[in-house]
Amino acid sequence: MTGKTAPLCGTLTPEQIRVMHGHGTERPGSSPLNFEKRTGLYRCAACNAPLFRSETKYESGSGWPSYYDALPGAVETQTDTSHGMTRLEVHCASCKGHLGHVFPDGPRPTGQRYCINGVALDFVPDPA
Ligand SMILES: [Zn+2]
Repeated sequence: MTGKTAPLCGTLTPEQIRVMHGHGTERPGSSPLNFEKRTGLYRCAACNAPLFRSETKYESGSGWPSYYDALPGAVETQTDTSHGMTRLEVHCASCKGHLGHVFPDGPRPTGQRYCINGVALDFVPDPA
């Protein structure tokens, strides 16, 4: 951190910049979104693109907000071989901000587990 924050992504916090630009990972269990049970939309914290719906969110027990599917075309993946593991990295298709990883051990119908950093998301509840 040089003290001057890049204006690229508007009003991101240093923690959001660390995760989304630096491919960081938030502390497990630290996101209030782990406990978010309302119906609504999860948007990219950097560019506001719609990424996930609450209907695909589930409790994976991992400590990170988890989804079994993303909105069509909302996210992209690429192979990540950091930390001695081969994982599939997930980022926002619009701004390329890092979101988390996807693992093939999720529930039906997709069998995918999108393990996402809560700080990379912005939850918008559906109107009542
Ligand atoms: Zn984005």
